[in-house]
Amino acid sequence: MGTVSGACHPAGVTVADQIEDLTAALPAPPAGEDLQPVRDRLAEAAERAVALLDGHSAERALPLRLPKGRVLDLLSCERLAVARHAGPADGGGASVALLRGQALDRFVQHELHEGPVAHPLEDLLAMVHAEGDLDLGDELAAAGADLRLEPLAAAARDWAGTDPGWWPRTQSAVAVHLADGLVRCEGRIDVELGGPLTGRPSVVVEVKVGRPHASHLGEVTHYALLVALRDGVAPSLLARWYPGTSLAHQVVTLDTLDSAARRLADMIVSWAQLQAGRPATERSGPGCAWCPDADRCPSFRPPPDPFDTEPEEVPA
Ligand code: SF4
Repeated sequence: MGTVSGACHPAGVTVADQIEDLTAALPAPPAGEDLQPVRDRLAEAAERAVALLDGHSAERALPLRLPKGRVLDLLSCERLAVARHAGPADGGGASVALLRGQALDRFVQHELHEGPVAHPLEDLLAMVHAEGDLDLGDELAAAGADLRLEPLAAAARDWAGTDPGWWPRTQSAVAVHLADGLVRCEGRIDVELGGPLTGRPSVVVEVKVGRPHASHLGEVTHYALLVALRDGVAPSLLARWYPGTSLAHQVVTLDTLDSAARRLADMIVSWAQLQAGRPATERSGPGCAWCPDADRCPSFRPPPDPFDTEPEEVPA
């Protein structure tokens, strides 16, 4: 699997230019029967998870939901995942880093569908309010100048000129339901381009505010897996976009999908075990920077650079 990390791109080279170049000669992605072993692995894990909860007092945890943020938190630290996702939605406010991530997603969306962002905070609030997310709107408005929105809106200009023939979709839903719908793996892809109906290669792009981090690779490969199972054909290209840099990219192979499926299968079973009462393990790492249990966890370790980390959104 070839992976290329993002580097500063030459002035004037847009994301569209890069995607055209990168997709000019790609191998055919895994598809059809090639995906069956991956499906079988996940189906087996889902059946195991349901059996763990069947007749158990935690049966109410069904359907077992594994949105992307939960999967990534489980991979980081089980106790962190339980603290963030096991109870009712937390009422805590989002961090500035998370809010900046939300803003950048929407600026890219604006650039792709409506053109340049003229008034960053106003346009952002208008988009969020149009989505009906008044709480997020309040948090963004309260954070105000701390969000430093101008450079984010300027960076999103890199998406200008994307050919509509790519059918750009933003925040597109992807879901894989297993065990007759009792296990649901879901996510939202920042940007999807091309795909079976467009006559162009399928490209998945994750938009990131922070610096490149190893966990981001896990995110895009997780999406590759979900898209492959949704469409019956894997994306041809996975990319991560960090403002001001060239796309970090990789092609999708069966090994990519198999690794992602192994991780997801493990997390499906782990989440079921945790719902059934198994104590959560602790694993210190970058997640300690935004962990709700940081002030009481004996395994807490301060991250070396808290500004080099970026929390995942807690799914609704
Ligand atoms: S503080 Fe760190 S080790 Fe402890 S639960 Fe949170 S993420 Fe895990």
